[in-house]
Amino acid sequence: MRITRILALTAGAAVAALALAGCNSGTPGSDSSESSGALWEVATDVSIPDSPTFERIQSAGKVVIGVKEDQPGLGYLDPVTGERSGFDIDIARWMAASLGYDEDQIEYKAVASANREQAIINGDVDYYVGTYSITDSRKQQVSFAGPYFVTGQGLLVAADNDSITGEDSLTADDTVCSATGSTSIQRIKDETPAQTKEYDTYSQCVEDLKSGQVDAVTTDEAILIGYAAQDPDNLKVVGDVFSEERYGIGLTLGDTALAQFFDDVLTDGGDTWQAIFEKNLGASGVTATQPDVDPVS
Ligand code: GLU
Repeated sequence: MRITRILALTAGAAVAALALAGCNSGTPGSDSSESSGALWEVATDVSIPDSPTFERIQSAGKVVIGVKEDQPGLGYLDPVTGERSGFDIDIARWMAASLGYDEDQIEYKAVASANREQAIINGDVDYYVGTYSITDSRKQQVSFAGPYFVTGQGLLVAADNDSITGEDSLTADDTVCSATGSTSIQRIKDETPAQTKEYDTYSQCVEDLKSGQVDAVTTDEAILIGYAAQDPDNLKVVGDVFSEERYGIGLTLGDTALAQFFDDVLTDGGDTWQAIFEKNLGASGVTATQPDVDPVS
């Protein structure tokens, strides 16, 4: 829990620094085409025997990646510039490059939390990178590479809210908003007396928080820090994190060849991981180290 603890302790500084960095404004530094070349190389002559997903990618001549696009700092689509940015997006691009595919051969598909397993099962996406926690129940339906990041669940409240200070402070009078199908909404239902409200996306919850229709938004602190940074005068992240969320790359169940391939890229690419982290989350003041990958089963 060391990493999540650090995240919790530095949340305030993170929000301030991210606000300064203008993480959601499509600043030049977040333009992948300018910076990706320096962070990783596009591989050539890649072969992954026994990976049905890689076979599909090769015959399509492109990689289809499932992502989030309303989570600044992690997976974000700038509505003005059309640029995608964030830690998850760069991890997704790095994995595509390791397969031999550059930005212009990537098709991104936004897939909400509740629809990730089905999108992977249907083959609508070749793989998924979007704050996707590795869990035993999801492992019944999809396989995971990674983890590539560890964070923990937190709470986002109005800046003038002094009554909600952490998970234990939630009461039956509080309404907490989160995304359908997430580990976050489930944990609030399982562990607290609070009422819940659900949407497809966390950004809808944030709108409700700003208009006073819910008392808190809950999900991974790494996500909440990005929202607080967009509106630091009105929003704040409170309390210690109360779970461990280990982000994996979701892929077709049983494609162990691709899972092992991605794991090797992650394990051998410590410097690239660090550069991607610094670029997207480093300015926030959050410190984290790359987690070891799980053995592929
Ligand atoms: N990491 C959690 C999950 O996978 C919450 C964030 C999300 O919904 O993407 O359920």
